[in-house]
Amino acid sequence: MARTAARRPFPRRYGALLAAVPVVAVGLADVTIALRTATSPAPRLHRAVAAAAPTPAPSANARFTLNDAETKRNAALRDLLARRRQAVLHHDVNAFLATDDPAQPRFRAQQRREFEALSAVPLASWDYDIDLGIGLPLTPQAQRYRAPVFAPAQFDIRYAIKGFDDKPTSLSQTPTFVARASGWYVASFDDFAKAGNPSSPGIWDFGPLRIARAHGVLVIGHPQSATLLRQVAELAAESIPKVTAVWGRHWSRTVVVLVPSTQRELGDIVDDAEDLDQIAALTSAEVTSCPGAPNPVGARIAINPRNWPTLSPLGRRIVMTHELTHIATRAETNSCMPTWLIEGFADYVGYGQASVPVRTIASELAADVQAGRVPKSLPAAADFDGDSKRLAQAYEGGLLACRLIASIAGERGLVRFYTEVGTSPASPARALASAMRTILHLTPAQFTARWRQYLRSQLS
Ligand SMILES: [Zn+2]
Repeated sequence: MARTAARRPFPRRYGALLAAVPVVAVGLADVTIALRTATSPAPRLHRAVAAAAPTPAPSANARFTLNDAETKRNAALRDLLARRRQAVLHHDVNAFLATDDPAQPRFRAQQRREFEALSAVPLASWDYDIDLGIGLPLTPQAQRYRAPVFAPAQFDIRYAIKGFDDKPTSLSQTPTFVARASGWYVASFDDFAKAGNPSSPGIWDFGPLRIARAHGVLVIGHPQSATLLRQVAELAAESIPKVTAVWGRHWSRTVVVLVPSTQRELGDIVDDAEDLDQIAALTSAEVTSCPGAPNPVGARIAINPRNWPTLSPLGRRIVMTHELTHIATRAETNSCMPTWLIEGFADYVGYGQASVPVRTIASELAADVQAGRVPKSLPAAADFDGDSKRLAQAYEGGLLACRLIASIAGERGLVRFYTEVGTSPASPARALASAMRTILHLTPAQFTARWRQYLRSQLS
């Protein structure tokens, strides 16, 4: 995976930034990661940003063949999870630890730390979604207890943050339950990690938490980053109205921002195997629909603590506004929408009224155009991958496509274009062609030709 790969040369975008160019680095893979994760076949069951798969109904056959021991076990596990839920919601550490295997002091100590960290998060709800009908084949790690064990094939934590999540978000976990003489207990959350089924962590699994708030904003990070948390909270609060000014008021106008301590923690929290070296911040959510209207839950912005400090103050404002645009538009961004439109629109809002010349914003693409290399087609989804060699040009090309749309149809026309494509029940190509026809009066080929012409006029 990228996050364990050898160190790469410092990315060119940041090289340019450090050379005192006022703003450049808005290299962000953000939304595309979540969308790709949601649409690609899951290589494993457990991912933080996966599509919220419908809970499989317990198998009828399994029910009919339950023996007495299994019936008792299932009742005990339901009781165990009910006590655990109450313990979390009532901040009762002893009741929580009473659900953990008494034979494992180290696991209990780790559970205590995680529980204490979680206590800082204002929860509206916390629950467990378990399918007791199907167990996983046991790994060697899950067979080390010298006692009966059970590992459900499907288990999710479902939680909502008070005042921010209108629907619960889920974290897939792979717990092992063990039967001791005194009953059933939680024994582990990582017995299946080596077999490709790790539990998705929350930020509370990475040490004590500190919260910062500003109007409409909740920032969750670690105590050592207290100053950064406050700065991020204020910046997000200032940026929300900029997004609303373009997009309108039909979004929550609130956001939860996560500030991990390391890039590696960021990768774990968003369950992202992409290369994050060029990423300043990203937005993730569960998105379930393609095509048609998406049904997003658990939208979060996450900051890359390695790259964020290298951005100029203006660069941070642009990045934050860009990410908030993804949050605002999330409910109208289905997972098959063209990436150039998603990212181009976020950059369109992100750069907004900032007085940065287009040749500075799009310096890499400008260099190509000036050298006679005008791209033949709009940026492809793969050009937005974190390790893409054309990442900068892809963002810049998307931004210019959105500016072109706004120059033809006005800013409200651009918003309408985005919404039509992002919520269309048609296939991606048809959705795009239809919006181009009705709003721009152009065919896709004509639009591409206009875009190439626009690149030449803006950048040469
Ligand atoms: Zn983005």
